Amino acid sequence: MRTPQTITDLLRLKFGGLGSFPTPEEVLTWFNLLQAGWVHNGDPKKPHAVLHSGLHSTGFFLCKRVLAYGNLREILAECIVNKLYTAGGESFMKSIGGVFGSPYSSILLAGDIARLMEVKVYVPEKDPADPDGKKMRFKPDDPIPAGTILLQIEELVTKFDSGDATKQAIIDGNSNPVEFAKFVGVLVYRPPEIAPELPDGRTIIPFIQKRVDAWDPKYCPLCSKGSKVVSPKTNWAELTA
Ligand SMILES: [Zn+2]
Repeated sequence: MRTPQTITDLLRLKFGGLGSFPTPEEVLTWFNLLQAGWVHNGDPKKPHAVLHSGLHSTGFFLCKRVLAYGNLREILAECIVNKLYTAGGESFMKSIGGVFGSPYSSILLAGDIARLMEVKVYVPEKDPADPDGKKMRFKPDDPIPAGTILLQIEELVTKFDSGDATKQAIIDGNSNPVEFAKFVGVLVYRPPEIAPELPDGRTIIPFIQKRVDAWDPKYCPLCSKGSKVVSPKTNWAELTA
């Protein structure tokens, strides 16, 4: 079953049954079926999205609606591992001693990738002392050995704020100095400007990469061209028609 038409079809997908890695475009059709992702095609006759923040946008992603399904998460973990292998080769893959992802959204995906790579997953947490949920912490009760090279995995990256906070939590919380692999594996990279080089020198290796713009409604160029704005939460069919 190469092109799932229904959610029931999606639930039956198995990586071994696909025959090859799905393309990002194929995976976007899965996101679409699960009301988990959509990107405007540039045609002003098509509607655009109003986000929870009130901004008008050319894209909407809620990866948890896909990652909630273990079979799809496993397939996407295989896809990300394959992208990392293509970028770094065998020596890069063999250098990795552990995997981590930002809490809570990236933890399950990081765990699946760690399993495929036959290494441990380390689990940073949201710091309960931070009411905004932006600060992370890493408990020192299962320390990461000194010199371990850690691979960071993220389900969704716009600006990498939570990704940075999670890396910092490991630096602050682990009792041993560790290293961070030069690549960061990302399921959906949807920045306003494509710039995969992070300030710390690492490079984002995305499976799905889509530039997504968001504007204050007053300055929304799609509204000014007559595109209708709809809420992805309540008007999915209209948004994706
Ligand atoms: Zn608009």
